[in-house]
Amino acid sequence: ATIALDPRLGKKSADFIAQTHRIYVDGKFVNAASGKTFPVYNPATGEVMAHVPEAESEDVDRAVRAARLAFDEGPWSRMSPSQRGRILNKLADLLEQNLEEFAELESMDNGKPISVSRAADVPLAVDLFRYMAGWSTKIMGHTFPISFPGEYLTYTLREPIGVVGQIIPWNFPLLMAAWKLGPALAAGCTVVLKLAEQTPLTGLRLAELIHEAGFPAGVVNVLTGYGEGAGAPLAAHDLVDKVAFTGSTEVGRLIVHAAAGSLKKVTLELGGKSPAIIFPDADLERAIPGTASAIFFNHGQCCCAGSRLFAHESIFDRVVEGVSDIASKIRVGSGLDPNTQMGPLVSEEQFQKVTGYIESGISEGAKAAAGGKKAADKGYFVQPTVLTKTNPEMKVIREEIFGPVVCAIPYKDADLDRIAKEANDTPYGLAASIWTRDISTANKMAKRIRSGTVWINCHNVFDAALPFGGYKQSGWGREMGAEVLNNYTEVKAVTTAL
Ligand code: NAD
Repeated sequence: ATIALDPRLGKKSADFIAQTHRIYVDGKFVNAASGKTFPVYNPATGEVMAHVPEAESEDVDRAVRAARLAFDEGPWSRMSPSQRGRILNKLADLLEQNLEEFAELESMDNGKPISVSRAADVPLAVDLFRYMAGWSTKIMGHTFPISFPGEYLTYTLREPIGVVGQIIPWNFPLLMAAWKLGPALAAGCTVVLKLAEQTPLTGLRLAELIHEAGFPAGVVNVLTGYGEGAGAPLAAHDLVDKVAFTGSTEVGRLIVHAAAGSLKKVTLELGGKSPAIIFPDADLERAIPGTASAIFFNHGQCCCAGSRLFAHESIFDRVVEGVSDIASKIRVGSGLDPNTQMGPLVSEEQFQKVTGYIESGISEGAKAAAGGKKAADKGYFVQPTVLTKTNPEMKVIREEIFGPVVCAIPYKDADLDRIAKEANDTPYGLAASIWTRDISTANKMAKRIRSGTVWINCHNVFDAALPFGGYKQSGWGREMGAEVLNNYTEVKAVTTAL
């Protein structure tokens, strides 16, 4: 059946969405072994726009075996690092050449504003591949002045960890694929990547560019499928050396259990409940829009969203008023509309989850200073929402909402330890932002916050060079920067008696 697509889509993206989709295994585009497919929805309308293969155990097994062969015998692990870097750079160039198409596909599939996918998602993915291409020639060991001078030569080698299974979520579909693939490939690993079932389009298109860039067969395999059907067998597969997962903390635990059988290495990027803390001396002209963007960017569907907004009681009313004013003026609409500032949430399930949290907060006594309802009759639109009058026991304070909902919380103290205690009172530890003009307060507070990222007078600033990841239940290991390469390499100590 032909599916009506948005007339604002360019021809290339419309043609791509309409084509027959296949998974990418061992250098070939193929159907799932079962022949099964599942639907992909347009979140702005709730309508089906494509069908993609439903990979299951048998497909996972084929992909893992291809990756195993490409690692153990294939050219990839024997290629020179500079050749690997060249192919990664080629992929970055191809992605950049197709920026507009990827921006449209991402907006259509995830719902995010086209202006955002054009300015952030796609260019950041390009940059990540380039940054990691550079690392491919700079992964090296050390020599060691051990005891017994002159009797031994000792050095370490850093070698690729092997076959990596990667499982990603739907909030930044292309960028998460880049964060995962870039360092693994730079290190010389081979990969089986499972895309999020809600947003498979840019990952499938990326597989075409991977093919075109000249990665040898089996080095990268890209699967579409559900978590239980495809993700779980990938995490459990004995021929996989390491699994890297981004998603919910709940599924993170399942990944650890699945990986335990073969004791494969695991890294996890999980949820968050990040605080944004405004001090009374902050520049509110900056802090108000900054903390609004901390939660409303990407519709709050960021693991590091500033979802708990702490403001000193002397400025609390001004902050709530300012953030609520911004929230109520955000233009909510279809991602492909160039005027849209906030699109629909990604799925019916996410829409139900987020509106459910808002209702639970309000029924427990919270007040909506802005928003609080769904924003349209069709599609998964939710109003940007500011909740006040919460208490520390409410679900909206304790749990990750993963939507455009911020809880504003006043504090009385001038005592940094007490503010930090409240900000740290969560099982998560992904990020935080601190807003003050006092560099001493800022840096003392940065030290007291238990999270992998602290932003001072900003939020949501990312760079391929900066490590990102979580303390506590927000994860294991780091993405990006030089740090991530540790997750994809083993260290071998070699000692020679002279
Ligand atoms: P999810 O954990 O259900 O899904 C994420 C991925 O895991 C998907 O590809 C899914 O198919 C797969 N999956 C699901 N069940 C699985 C299983 N049993 N075995 C293997 N794979 C399985 O997450 P979601 O609800 O779709 O995404 C939102 C969550 O992801 C939020 O909680 C958010 O905080 C988190 N997230 C974290 C980061 C980060 O960098 N820390 C980034 C994005 C999203």
